[in-house]
Amino acid sequence: MFDWPGGSWQDTVRLVLTVLSIYGAIIWVALIFWVFRDIRQRTRDPIMQLIAVLLVLAGFLPGHWIYLILRPRQTLTELYERSLEEEAILQDLDDQKACPACRRRVRDDYLVCPSCLTELKEPCAGCGKPLDYGWLACPYCAREKAPAIAPGPAANHIEGAQDRASLGGLVRRSTSLVRRRGS
Ligand SMILES: [Zn+2]
Ligand SMILES: [Zn+2]
Repeated sequence: MFDWPGGSWQDTVRLVLTVLSIYGAIIWVALIFWVFRDIRQRTRDPIMQLIAVLLVLAGFLPGHWIYLILRPRQTLTELYERSLEEEAILQDLDDQKACPACRRRVRDDYLVCPSCLTELKEPCAGCGKPLDYGWLACPYCAREKAPAIAPGPAANHIEGAQDRASLGGLVRRSTSLVRRRGS
């Protein structure tokens, strides 16, 4: 037998075991921290967080593998980003307008519904862009709409004016009658 360097071989084995166990303990603590941080990014449920930490605390590496298999697939940030994406998609669907008469999809620049011929917009007299019937001026070329184009209110306005004119005539006639009688 040759001389074991540094004393007896038992001492060397003990030294190697000590180094290995310190190394293992460091990995263990690091794993626990890692899992603690990881599970907090994936769930807000304190019981789930506790179970995950206990799994690695009791199971070390095998416990960590089990955690990796069973942990929630997406982090909370990923879930949040996904919900934002879904919201954006829903918003896009909302922006695609429907014909008020037949509910078929129409584009924002359609003047009439191609399916049921409902009038949706009117072309601007200045630049030809499609305008809502409720608008008073074209937002593209700033040209004000001619009041005669708006059908409902304008017609009412003219009727009202005629009423007032005939009413004025009546009043004038009756006052002249009164004057005649008085004189
Ligand atoms: Zn339609
Ligand atoms: Zn215009």
